[in-house]
Amino acid sequence: MGLLPDRSLRDPADRRPAHAAPQAGDEEGGPLTYPGGDPIDQCVHLGREVIGAGLAIGSGGNLSARSPGAHECVVTAAGTWLDRLDRTSFVRVRIADGVAPQGATPSSEVGLHLSVYRARPDVNAVVHLHPQTAVLLDALGVAVRLITTDHAFYLRRVAVTPWHAPGTPGVGEAVAEAVADGTNCVLLPFHGCAVLGETVEMAHRRAANLEEAARLTYQALLLTGGLGPRELPACPPDFLAHRDPGSLI
Ligand SMILES: [Zn+2]
Repeated sequence: MGLLPDRSLRDPADRRPAHAAPQAGDEEGGPLTYPGGDPIDQCVHLGREVIGAGLAIGSGGNLSARSPGAHECVVTAAGTWLDRLDRTSFVRVRIADGVAPQGATPSSEVGLHLSVYRARPDVNAVVHLHPQTAVLLDALGVAVRLITTDHAFYLRRVAVTPWHAPGTPGVGEAVAEAVADGTNCVLLPFHGCAVLGETVEMAHRRAANLEEAARLTYQALLLTGGLGPRELPACPPDFLAHRDPGSLI
């Protein structure tokens, strides 16, 4: 992993000059501090961070990334623990047909990752995690509310797929259908989430914001008496009308 941040890998949507001062939202691995290196190095970093944040446990979750326009991606190998990844923990997989030329076995959810890349040429990172609060809320029939401006900006909307058993083709098919309209955050009932990004960093930001939004929704339910008469809070809907969709907040 590079010792210095590689500013050439900043999110392409970030149009600030390289010497721009940090802004709100940069605190946790912003564009000036996210690790340099290639997508594998960045996934190694993301894996440690998301396990530290409790977004998956044990060997749960899997990651993938590709260089923009590439016909293959790297996917975490079967059985890997996201907080113990290194450069040998990834399998190269052809996006078109799922063949792994080196013969190694990718994650059992490789189909989810490939389906997303086929459906969304703009996506270069896919993060599948098991965020507890988001999954719990969905199991209870409660939609995740976008309460803060960060939630609204990074998530925009949260889709929910029909139920499919983990590792089956239906998961990938359902996620591909859910993200075809540009949605970047998808909940898989009783299982986890799939979060997409133009970069590994953006997928990381979205995954963190998804679970925070779920946690605040959960706390709002407690404070308002669960299914009581009070409306759960949400970010004012006109907020995004004043934001450049390509800017970082
Ligand atoms: Zn899973």
